[in-house]
Amino acid sequence: MVSANTLCKKLLNVNHVVIEDANFYDDQDGVCHLRIRARADKWHQDYCPFYHKQCSRYDQKTEYPRTWRSLDFGAILVEIEGWIHRIECPEHGVVTAYVPWAYPGSGFTRDFDLTVGWLAVYLPRSVVSEYMRIDWETVGRCVNRTLNDIEPERSKRLDNLVNIGIDETSYKKGHKYITVIVNHDTNTVVWAAQ
Ligand SMILES: [Zn+2]
Repeated sequence: MVSANTLCKKLLNVNHVVIEDANFYDDQDGVCHLRIRARADKWHQDYCPFYHKQCSRYDQKTEYPRTWRSLDFGAILVEIEGWIHRIECPEHGVVTAYVPWAYPGSGFTRDFDLTVGWLAVYLPRSVVSEYMRIDWETVGRCVNRTLNDIEPERSKRLDNLVNIGIDETSYKKGHKYITVIVNHDTNTVVWAAQ
């Protein structure tokens, strides 16, 4: 039998993390939550969230812990709880320290944001919202956070661009239009705007 510690680590799929505690509780709607208390290990506690470089600590942890929603485990809603502090980065100033499980500023784990991003490519936003149990606007925010991982250099879209296609697609029941320019050779979108 694996330990609860190993189980939580595997479930969260995150490295450089220390699991401190894990408990189940039911919220007022009767939904079961698994809340895992975690922190970055001592070698990654004072990292800048943008460049993952060691910085100096700016303050001590906050009075209350923060929580991040993780991917569901069946019907159970999984979340990480952690106390965070700020660091002082020579390049980015005073910012909330890096946590190994999430993008900077996100209330979700990286796996959650990436899953929403992947689903949003194939499914309508309303379906993603219902399936992931998040509101409609949150879908867009999750997608935005994953863009850098999916396409780090957007300017590369213009590399070797020879044959283009231009089309318009309507939304809002045909009242508004988006112009889309695609690279015909790679079948990828180069540019799109209202
Ligand atoms: Zn920095």
